[in-house]
Amino acid sequence: MTTKYLFFTGGVVSSVGKGVTAAAMGLLLKERGFKVAVQKLDPYINVDPGTMSPYQHGEVYVLDDGAETDLDLGHYERFIDIRLSRVSNFTTGQVYAETIAKERRGDYLGGTIQVIPHITNEIKRRIGLVEKETGAEIVILEVGGTVGDIESQPFLEALRQLRNEVGRENCLFVHVTWLPTIGATGEIKTKPTQHSVAALRSIGISPNVIIARADADIDQGLCDKIALFCDVERNAVIPMKTAEVLYEVPLLLEELGAGELILAKLGLQASRKSDMRPWKKLVENVKKEKPTVHVALIGKYVELQYAYMSVREALKHAAIANDVEISIKWVHSADLEKDKGWDIVKAADAVLVPGGFGSRGVEGKILAAQYARENKVPYLGLCLGMQVMCVEFARNVLGYEDANSSEFDRSTPHPVIDLMVDQRSISDMGGTMRLGLYPCLLQPGTKAAAAYDAPSVEERHRHRWEFNNAYREAFKKRGMIFSGLSPDGRLVEIIELQDHPYMVASQFHPEFLSRPMKPHPLFVGLVKAAKERGKVIGDW
Ligand code: GLN
Repeated sequence: MTTKYLFFTGGVVSSVGKGVTAAAMGLLLKERGFKVAVQKLDPYINVDPGTMSPYQHGEVYVLDDGAETDLDLGHYERFIDIRLSRVSNFTTGQVYAETIAKERRGDYLGGTIQVIPHITNEIKRRIGLVEKETGAEIVILEVGGTVGDIESQPFLEALRQLRNEVGRENCLFVHVTWLPTIGATGEIKTKPTQHSVAALRSIGISPNVIIARADADIDQGLCDKIALFCDVERNAVIPMKTAEVLYEVPLLLEELGAGELILAKLGLQASRKSDMRPWKKLVENVKKEKPTVHVALIGKYVELQYAYMSVREALKHAAIANDVEISIKWVHSADLEKDKGWDIVKAADAVLVPGGFGSRGVEGKILAAQYARENKVPYLGLCLGMQVMCVEFARNVLGYEDANSSEFDRSTPHPVIDLMVDQRSISDMGGTMRLGLYPCLLQPGTKAAAAYDAPSVEERHRHRWEFNNAYREAFKKRGMIFSGLSPDGRLVEIIELQDHPYMVASQFHPEFLSRPMKPHPLFVGLVKAAKERGKVIGDW
């Protein structure tokens, strides 16, 4: 079968849920028996988001092969339940780096290197890799940013060219826009959508489908108006009101006939009928009344919840598995150092310390770990969350007062967390951490082994520092259990505390492999322990 392409562009404003919509569309197509692949094109000049602050970009999502990618790839993996690879995300930075390297090598000797055709050719080459690598029948391709941005123009131009190369009948342009509401009258406006479609048409692309997003109900008249002004067929305007529950988006799209519309427009015949019953059940479960488990998330980028997207989703998945509601409160770790935010931590049923870099707020995270240990509050530590659990244990249980990670104190007499040997000679910051999937052997009889119910697992990593083995015996003697180790036994991957209901932490990031239908065992364990703690509180 010829590969078909679904190009998702965004209009009016960013953050309208283009990634979620593309992911949900992927699910509808997979459900109909198609082999689906996804790719995100990011117009910024960084080679990958790995060197950007989460404040700039939100979470850095890590894939099996260690690619550091856009958080939309997390949506794709969670909704479609696929494992993506490095070819699924590229940036302007990568496109230029490759083209300039070729120029220096002399690949274009004699030529002038230009955006068209050299940059657009490189963009098209990278798009082609997805089909080559995955053998997908349908490639969903999302262009980051908003139509009209200077940065995204070469990407859109490349798609325009590609449409002719793969055949117009094999491509669809889906434009996701936002319909604002005027506060005073409550009126929904379509004008910005008209303008963004005009901008798209000015570069030679007419959208085939418009997904109009809004917070309010969108009536038929508005859809007709959009169809008329934007020159799309009436049935190709899909009104998408903001969903109450994220995982409802595929159900809403299905109800609106989006799956069938796309197939009809691409001339495809489904090999089976979609069965959305499991998703319906999932959403019903999320919506029904149930007891609430309160989690204090002790972070550094708490103002921007996008920074912890996968952690938040993994907690939601674990809540569904435990038949509870999850309420997450975000506590700034630096506040805890100033005696602020403790009311939230003390009211919580569980404490979660996620990953992070740099010394700001680390002492607050260490205090949170101490609180969880001393008060037997369920605790889950992710990457840095494991490292601070070790530092706290060393200081307050073993009595090594100045223990620290050498990331935060180079001259600590007790570097219980130290730079990995492989990392010592590395000076470049981009893409040089210990990244991606590594195996981990679970020690029988531990909470971790019970949670996973498996002798070994593979999990995704993103770190430079590790547990310092010189301290392993001392830790063990006082009740720290090393429940997950690398196959050669040298790297500590999971730790847990004896005589504590659930104080578990991993050097890897379990949140990246949690799926709505396959909640991650370590998160399920945390929420279960929090639920069993049975502390019912009111509002917090
Ligand atoms: N900064 C720590 C390290 O590099 C932890 C990284 C993380 O939490 N992802 O080891």
